[in-house]
Amino acid sequence: MKNEQIMAEEKACIFPTYSRFPFVITKGKGMKVIDNNGKEYLDFLGGIAVDVLGHCHPKVTSAVRNQVNKLVHVSNLYYTIPQIKLAKLICRLSGLNKCFFANSGAEANEAAIKLARKYAKEKLGAGKYEIITMKGSFHGRTMATLSATGQEKIQKGFEPLLEGFKYAEYGDFDSLKNLVSEQTCAVLLEPIQGEGGVKVPSVEYLKKVRELCDEKNIVLILDEIQSGIGRTGNFFAYEGFGIRPDIVTLAKGIGGGLPLGIMVANDKVASGFSAGSHGSTFGGGPVVCVAGLAVLETIIKDKLIKNASETGAYFIEKLKELVVKYSSIVKEARGMGLMIGLELTVQGKELVVKMAEKGFLINCTAEKVLRFLPPLIVTRRQIDRLVSALDEVLSSTRF
Ligand SMILES: *Cc1c(COP(=O)(O)O)cnc(C)c1O
Repeated sequence: MKNEQIMAEEKACIFPTYSRFPFVITKGKGMKVIDNNGKEYLDFLGGIAVDVLGHCHPKVTSAVRNQVNKLVHVSNLYYTIPQIKLAKLICRLSGLNKCFFANSGAEANEAAIKLARKYAKEKLGAGKYEIITMKGSFHGRTMATLSATGQEKIQKGFEPLLEGFKYAEYGDFDSLKNLVSEQTCAVLLEPIQGEGGVKVPSVEYLKKVRELCDEKNIVLILDEIQSGIGRTGNFFAYEGFGIRPDIVTLAKGIGGGLPLGIMVANDKVASGFSAGSHGSTFGGGPVVCVAGLAVLETIIKDKLIKNASETGAYFIEKLKELVVKYSSIVKEARGMGLMIGLELTVQGKELVVKMAEKGFLINCTAEKVLRFLPPLIVTRRQIDRLVSALDEVLSSTRF
């Protein structure tokens, strides 16, 4: 089938909620994906932070293959071993105590919002239901999570939103402090904003947020759906800031490409949920959980967190050379580990298209920020190739 025909068929039967690039990807291996014409791309977006081990990692594919031959699904009314094993490992890595399994990032955040409200209502008294989130944040597309998301363009048209959210300036401690009231039950934020343009706050800011939450008995929820799973050079980005949340949410990278979201809480806040408080039919099924275990075991065994930290630092240094060379177009290279943004003074969409033509998948967020979220297996050589292609594209584009 020709690409024109594939695109026409898609248009005829699928909601136009995504503006897709005009190629059809059929295979993936490691850092590479291949389209239906045999063209190869180096994937520096990694399925938007999902493919942390690269595509079709043999440890994940064989774990999944073995599990589908044993047991695919039973209800959460029964015990299953992979779920318990994965929860145990996540608790150890996070320093928190209880996991709830969901199927996506939005669902993990939905669970966190529900837990914070229920915990506050039952343990701290009625009237505490407000959650403070950040402008420029992204927490998902369900009604609660889009209400939590501090971006008008994502909320527009879906009003009335869920009540009880207030939005502070990201990185501005006083803005947050001024919104705290007797009604505040939780603060929800990304330790590094992803969709918002790869924004890294100061260590001091996050430490002060933690102290404020302790002082006022407010639940601190960190959304690590994009920043977690080793990407920033620590398993959780919060380790790099020297804090620990009461609740952390995970998704994207944890399932090795399969849909898995996890909400993890400390014992104190977890006490808000009891039998029947929340649930999910598919959450924490054996297949996604063995995939999650394979991802974590491989990250640990292959020392990929160290690679994220070292190659990430190298990547940012290389991008900084472009900032110097194209100072009128390229404003700043920033990030932590392999969560990297290159802020432009112009719209980035055209550069993304040109990079795809050259065989590199990247993304643009917040209109002017080129975003790189490659698999944690990326090498310096591959980074060199990307940076030299980007150099060519920048030098040949008229802005
Ligand atoms: C992607 C993302 C979500 C939403 O995850 P879905 O799986 O698409 O529901 C929530 N928070 C952050 C920080 C994200 O990057």
